[in-house]
Amino acid sequence: MDPALRFRDVAAGPSEPDSVQGLHTFSTRRVMKLESLLQYLEHYLSLSGYPDYPTALNGLQVEGRPEVTSIVTAVDASQATIDEAVRRQADLLLVHHGLFWDGLRPLTGRSYRRLKELILNGVGLYACHLPLDAHPEVGNCALLARAIGLEPTSRIGSYKGVDLGWSGTLRDAVTPMALVERVTAAVGGPVRLLEGGPDIVRSVGVVTGGGGSFIAEAAAAGLDAFVTGEGAHHNYFDAAEYGIHVLFAGHYATETFGVRALGDHLAERFGLDVAFLDRPTGL
Ligand SMILES: [Zn+2]
Repeated sequence: MDPALRFRDVAAGPSEPDSVQGLHTFSTRRVMKLESLLQYLEHYLSLSGYPDYPTALNGLQVEGRPEVTSIVTAVDASQATIDEAVRRQADLLLVHHGLFWDGLRPLTGRSYRRLKELILNGVGLYACHLPLDAHPEVGNCALLARAIGLEPTSRIGSYKGVDLGWSGTLRDAVTPMALVERVTAAVGGPVRLLEGGPDIVRSVGVVTGGGGSFIAEAAAAGLDAFVTGEGAHHNYFDAAEYGIHVLFAGHYATETFGVRALGDHLAERFGLDVAFLDRPTGL
């Protein structure tokens, strides 16, 4: 364990099993200083200098309690996930999409309500956007790639000098419809296929979320198919004319992998109490 990470053990309730060692004994619940958790995440997610949208504001967006025992993770910092984090008395809400996408705006109306709810209840908010799409272990793209039988070997999805996604070869070649079924099973929701590629698919690229702008790059890389969350109307013609299958598997559905995996990682490594809040948008 990293000596820089300071813990304090506190007595837990009698029904609290030891989640760290998986023993059926009653043990302690870990408490971690928020500052230590932030340092760890900064390093693990390589946040420093990572290019992103200016409004993504990766890292701690709203300060909460100085010590963290319980974390809830979610794709979006919506009013619904904030309310649920408060209801569960979580110390930190960790999300992929943070609070400030609208940019510099007065803190009125729903912006005010979201912030007020967090601050009055001492719940911190931590956001990690593109670094969590791109991460090799807990990233949305790598995990979705593995979930569809793709060994992620090359990078794709170039954004401001970094590659967000992964590409590789399927362990077994499939028809486009078989790939659709596989992606459907992986994301647990409907998948739309824009046909344009070969009858048999071997090489696939994955960029989660709104990755429609990477279709040309995927085609130029010689890939048979490209999986992303959502795109634009003109992507239909991109698929047909670049000669690549494009699968839209849902923005939300392709981006649950990262926060869930990061939550599991923190629970395992630090013994924190972590839960994922599933609030699908259907988009
Ligand atoms: Zn997204």
